[in-house]
Amino acid sequence: ADISPATPDPRFLPKDKIMAIERTFSIIKPDATERNLTGAVNAVIEKAGLRIVAQKRIRMTKEQAETFYAVHKARPFFGELVEFMTSGPVVVQVLEGEGAIAKYREVMGATDPSKAAEGTVRKLYAKSIGENSVHGSDAPETAAIEIAQFFSGNEIVG
Ligand code: ADP
Repeated sequence: ADISPATPDPRFLPKDKIMAIERTFSIIKPDATERNLTGAVNAVIEKAGLRIVAQKRIRMTKEQAETFYAVHKARPFFGELVEFMTSGPVVVQVLEGEGAIAKYREVMGATDPSKAAEGTVRKLYAKSIGENSVHGSDAPETAAIEIAQFFSGNEIVG
């Protein structure tokens, strides 16, 4: 098999360094689709060794956005967030790889692009703390819930 440097062969890692193959949920947000950055974001994702195993471009309904961000309902930016997420097309994705959840959070960078590390998606492309180009699940439980909100099993091809 072709083993790229970004994805070391797990057989040669010490036992405690072996992470599980995980799936995480990703959204390329309206500020990024609007600037035609889907391919640019996907290039960063794939370069990090994550595999895009499901992907579709949709227009989120208000109801979908409110359900998706229900955890932030009480926050002052909730209305603005729902408005933004429904303002244009988004690309929803399932990403797969070793430790995919933490790895994608690293690839995305900090929520606030001014605090994001060099080379991260948000450092490269985000416009502001709200219009920050990408979403990624923060834990295995939320990843499972978020994937199930947008994909059925037969749409995910690993
Ligand atoms: P992350 O997306 O990095 O997990 P959070 O879960 O804290 O960040 O917030 C969810 C989303 O809500 C952010 O990605 C961003 O789009 C929006 N958001 C967060 N904080 C603010 C804020 N202070 N003002 C406006 N929008 C915000």
